[in-house]
Amino acid sequence: MTTPWSGFRAVAVALLDLSLPQTCAGCRTAGCWLCRRCAAALRGPPQRVRPTPEPPGLPPVYASAAYDLAVARIVNAHKEHARLELAAPLGRALAAAVQAAIDGAGVSSAAAPLLVPVPSRRSTVRSRGHDPLLRTTRAAVSGVGQRTAGVATVLRHRRRVADQAGLSAHERAANLSGALEVAPRRLAAVHGRAVVVVDDVLTTGATLGEATRALQAAGVRVIGAAVVAATTKRSAARLDAGGGLG
Ligand SMILES: [Zn+2]
Repeated sequence: MTTPWSGFRAVAVALLDLSLPQTCAGCRTAGCWLCRRCAAALRGPPQRVRPTPEPPGLPPVYASAAYDLAVARIVNAHKEHARLELAAPLGRALAAAVQAAIDGAGVSSAAAPLLVPVPSRRSTVRSRGHDPLLRTTRAAVSGVGQRTAGVATVLRHRRRVADQAGLSAHERAANLSGALEVAPRRLAAVHGRAVVVVDDVLTTGATLGEATRALQAAGVRVIGAAVVAATTKRSAARLDAGGGLG
């Protein structure tokens, strides 16, 4: 149907196209913002992943992608360079992992779980100008539809933690031990509920393990965890060899 708004919409869409970056966020191929190969790398299928060593209390974790160089660049472009158009494909990848976590837990559709993202430090959100994981989680909810009850941002830091980058598995666990809690004012939103904890990348599992501990301490039932991508020994070695994310 043609309405007076159709023309405006077409112009708006064209302007949006013009404003999109013209190189693939994953492999830097010119002419698109995410090439087919990199989009396919995000699509999975989701798999159960286990860090080695596995932190005690870690729930079953599902990931859609391997954290290889292209996927790392996509996550980084969204997170650090505010390439917000990537929230949709990242959200779809997270949604698929959430679906797998719900299927793995055997949860009936009547008991749709909430998605609880691990919290970002406030100073980090301020310096980035956005909260990438929250944006991805909201995009994921629209992909999972009625199988989730929405997003619950209930976790917060109860003390300062160091940046996890460059820490060993043992150091990460120590850095995060007891660092998170359910904000008392948000407790009613999750108490007694089933939740899936979500994050962008699984490395050692320390963050998801600590988030799970904090939720369980507040009487929340954590049925699983879901991430966009998980590091494997192979992908970590390749990232190191590739000289970082650029
Ligand atoms: Zn690409």
